[in-house]
Amino acid sequence: MPYNKDSEKKVRGTLAPSSPSKTLPILVADDDPVSRCLLVKTLRGWGHEVQTTDDGKEAWELFRSGKVRLVLTEWMLPGMDGLELCHRIRAASTGSSQPAYIVLLTSKNSVQDRVAAFNAGADDFISKPFHYEELRARVQAGERILALQSELIGAREKMERLALTDPLTGLLNRRALVEALRRDEDRMRREGRPMGVVVGDVDYFKTINDEHGHQTGDHVLRTVANCLKASVRGGDYVGRWGGEEFLIGLPGADIIQCAEVAERCRSLLSGQRISTRDNEVLKVTASFGAAATEGVDRESIMDLVRQADTAMYWSKNSGRNRVKIYVAGADPGLRRKAS
Ligand code: GH3
Ligand code: MG
Ligand code: MG
Repeated sequence: MPYNKDSEKKVRGTLAPSSPSKTLPILVADDDPVSRCLLVKTLRGWGHEVQTTDDGKEAWELFRSGKVRLVLTEWMLPGMDGLELCHRIRAASTGSSQPAYIVLLTSKNSVQDRVAAFNAGADDFISKPFHYEELRARVQAGERILALQSELIGAREKMERLALTDPLTGLLNRRALVEALRRDEDRMRREGRPMGVVVGDVDYFKTINDEHGHQTGDHVLRTVANCLKASVRGGDYVGRWGGEEFLIGLPGADIIQCAEVAERCRSLLSGQRISTRDNEVLKVTASFGAAATEGVDRESIMDLVRQADTAMYWSKNSGRNRVKIYVAGADPGLRRKAS
C-alpha cells in the first residue's frame, strides 16, 4: 500500500480507544515496508500478537508453525503470491482443529479479482487504500468467525470423544477398541511385528451385584479399570469390551509379553482391598486370556479377540483368577464366539 499522511492519521486516530476482545495471533505478509509497519503497529495497538514477513513462502512456513489464526496478506508477494498462500492455508486448515481466517489486502479491485480471491480460499478482501476503522471491523468479524468455528470444533471433538468412551470407567468403549485394533493390526503387519490381545473377565461379578448392590458393582468395575490401566505401557490401551469384560490391545507384543501384562493385571487386582459404602472390604479377582498374532492362523483381528476370549474361558474353567495363553487347537471344544 502506498504510504500517505492520511493513512498515518487514521492509524493514530484508531489506536487509543480500541478495546480488543482477545489477543489474536495474526500474521501480516506484505512486502511494502511502510504499509507493513503501519499494519503491525495498528494491530499491536489493538492488542493482537503479530508476526510479520515480506515473503509469501516464509508466510506459509510461519503459518505451518501452527500458531497463526488470522492472516492478512498482500496479493502480490515475492516467493509465493497471496492467492497461492490462500489456497495452501485453506487446504491445510479445512477439517483441522485449528481454523484460519484469511484477509487478502490488495490494490486490485475488480469483480474478477474478488472472485479469484474468494475462490482461492480467502475469507475477506480489503482494497487498498483502506480506512483503518474498516480494517478493525473486518478483523473483529474474523475474530467472531474464528471463535464460532473453535466452539463448533470443540463441540464436535467432545461428541467424538464421548462416542468412543465408556461412561462408567472412562476407558475406550467397544467401538473405539475395534477401531484401534484394526488400525494397529494393519500397522503391525506392515512393520512385520506381532499384535497381542488380552481379555479379562471379573470373577463371580454377578454375586457382587447381588450381595452389595449395583452401585458397589459399578465401583468395582471402576477399580478393575484403574488396575488394568496402571498395568499397561504407553502405546498399549485398555477398554471395556462389555459388562464386566475388559480388553487390552498390545501392538508389537508377542504371546509371552501379553501373558506378562495379563499377569501384572491379575496380580494388581487380586491385591486390591475395595471399600464399599457399607464399610465392608471386598476382594475381587478376574480371569485372563492372552493371544498374539505370531504363529496363529487368523483371518481378521476379531479372530485374535476370539482366541484371547477362548483362553480366558480356559482360565475360568481351570479355577478362575489366573492367566491362560491361546495355543491353536489346544481345547477347541471350549471356544466361544466373541461376537
Ligand atoms: P464368571 O466368574 O463366570 O464370569 O461369573 P460372573 O458372575 O462374573 O458372570 P455373569 O455373566 O453371570 O454376570 C455378569 C454380571 O455383570 C451380570 C450383569 O448384570 C453385570 N453387569 C454388566 N454390566 C454391569 C454394569 O455396568 N454395572 C454393574 N454393576 N453390573 C453389570
Ligand atoms: Mg464374569
Ligand atoms: Mg462376562
